[in-house]
This record gives sequence, structure tokens and C-alpha cells, in this order.
Amino acid sequence: TYSLGPKITTWDEERKLWLQKNPEFPNFIQGKPRVLLVTASPPNPCDNPIGDHYLLKAIKNKIDYCRIHVIEIVYNLAHLEKEMAGYWAKLPLIRRLMLSHPEVEWIWWMDSDALFTDMVFEIPFSKYKDHNLVIHGYPDLLFDQKSWIAVNTGSFLFRNCQWSLDLLDAWAPMGPKGPVREEAGKVLTANLKGRPAFEADDQSALIYLLMSQKDQWMDQVFIENSYYLHGYWAGLVDRYEEMIEKYHPGLGDERWPFVTHFVGCKPCGSYGDYPVERCLKNMERAFNFADNQVLNLYGFRHKGLLSPKIKRIRNETDDPLQYVDQLDVRHAKHEST
Ligand code: UDP
Ligand code: MN
Repeated sequence: TYSLGPKITTWDEERKLWLQKNPEFPNFIQGKPRVLLVTASPPNPCDNPIGDHYLLKAIKNKIDYCRIHVIEIVYNLAHLEKEMAGYWAKLPLIRRLMLSHPEVEWIWWMDSDALFTDMVFEIPFSKYKDHNLVIHGYPDLLFDQKSWIAVNTGSFLFRNCQWSLDLLDAWAPMGPKGPVREEAGKVLTANLKGRPAFEADDQSALIYLLMSQKDQWMDQVFIENSYYLHGYWAGLVDRYEEMIEKYHPGLGDERWPFVTHFVGCKPCGSYGDYPVERCLKNMERAFNFADNQVLNLYGFRHKGLLSPKIKRIRNETDDPLQYVDQLDVRHAKHEST
């Protein structure tokens, strides 16, 4: 069967030694794990040119969040493995980055079509100290219902360790494009509730692996649903105005979703599961909803959630630092902790 590369079995020991020899590249800085956010899009221009514009907005949104929270970013535009094209491309990429960045403690995969919509919320990493994979989902959907949407692979965290390399090895065999992926798709559709007939996708394959080899993996998997590490867009985008009225950034849950993920939209491809206008309109709203949280420090906001135009919300002042103390979300965060 397909393999992502030469089998590695002693990564934990090798990485530990490397970290000892390279104290200038610590995997924890002031008690916080070093995190690398990884996202990607296809190597060629989008079929629909407007898709490239939304890829730009989506990476700007991620750059903003990562600047505020001191997280490094990788943007991949290549197919590292020809067989693993499309949504499977994240597997070889994550493995490559783990092995090339031993200083990174957590790799955070985020789809290109997922936007940060809470610029203040932070991942509670200390909660995951005994886990190696953190993914949004629902245990009952996974183990009782065997649903194909039990977890979502649009935004998840992998610890840089041997266990994660082993999981990637166990996850990859359904990925190779062609007959392997086609045949595996039939197995997944036969075993997962609600799954339409199509080639094997990375999300269904992970669900199938976790439910069929529960004892082997689940000890180290944290299924998170106390906040939206991934949030399904259709249930969120019509409520942004209500959220603005009632709540504030920093909550991360249904009151102010951390991530809004445009599952099934495919603005870069030629076909998706939803009308492209509905997707683009709501991506614009999600982007501006988030961008308002960024612009606030600079004294601006969008004229409306659908408007790329911005307006001033404060007068210029000769005492600018009062606003830094009051409005910089990094500062606000420190106050509250
Ligand atoms: N992707 C990639 N290269 C490709 C196709 C997809 O890197 O050639 C990435 C991209 O970040 C995309 C993700 O894989 O967001 C998953 O695909 P998509 O978001 O379209 O799937 P959905 O969330 O709709 O299930
Ligand atoms: Mn996606």
C-alpha cells in the first residue's frame, strides 16, 4: 500500500535530542507551545477568477490572526506528492513540516476556505497536554451514528511527535488518486452514515480509521466542541448582526464563532454543493466581520458587513497611546488573565 515516506520509528527520541542541542529553537516559549499554522491552495489559478480574490482575503485573515497571536504561517501552493492531490495534499505536507520543523510543537492545519471570525479567542493548549490530535466534532456522531460529518478536517491540531507520524501513515493509504481512491470511496460510503457516493476524502477516511481502530487511537485524540475550532458556515453567517448586538469577540463558540468554514463552497473550483453567489456573499460577510475586529485598533470599520469600503470610527488624536491600551486585543487579553 501507499506510504508517505520511509518509516520513521524514533522521532520522539530524535526530536528530543535535537531540541536539547538547539536551545535557541525552543518548542515552548514562556510556557506556550510553538505553533505553526499551515494552509494551502491549488498550484494553478482558480477556474473562477473571483476565487483567487477570496483566497487572498482568506490568507490576509489568517495573517492578521497569526500576527496578533504570534503564530507562524506556512502557505503551500505545490503538490508535494502527485498521488495525494486535492484535499489529501495536507497529509504529506503536514508530515514534511513536522520533520523539517522539530522546534514546532503543534501543526495547525486550516483549509483555505476557513476564516477566523473571532480575532481574540485563543486555543486553550494546556487543556490538550495529554493529547496529540485535536479536532472539532461530536463523539456520539463518531461512535454511535458513524456519521461522515462526525469530525471536520478543515481545522485541526497535530502534535509534532511519533504518534502523529503513525496516525498519518495509517490515514494515508486511501488517498492515492485513481482506482485506489475510487475503491476506498465505496468502502467509506458503505460504512459511514449520510455519505454520498464519491471517491475517498481525507475526512471520511479519518472518521473510518478512528471508529474502526478506536482502542488504538482515541486515547490521544481530543474531540473538541466547546468552541468552534471548525464552525459550519451555514448555521453562523446569518447571525453575525445578532452576535454584534449581543456578544463580543473572545467567546469562540456559537455566540462569537472562532472559525467560520465554508465547507462545500469551492469558490476556486468550478462546482460546489452550494450556489456560488451565496458562498461569495457570505465569505465577504465573514471576512468583514473579522476585519472589523482588526480595524478597530486603527480607528476604522467596514461600512457594512457586505462592504469592502471602510469608515473612520474615531477622530484623530494627539494622545494615540490611550487607544493602544484600550483597544489592542493583545493588551486586553493580558488584562483578563
Ligand atoms: N487544497 C490544496 N490543494 C488542492 C486542493 C485543496 O491544498 O489542490 C486544500 C485547500 O486548503 C482546501 C482544502 O484542501 O481548503 C480542503 O478542500 P475544500 O476546502 O475544498 O473541502 P471542503 O472543506 O469543502 O470539504
Ligand atoms: Mn474547506
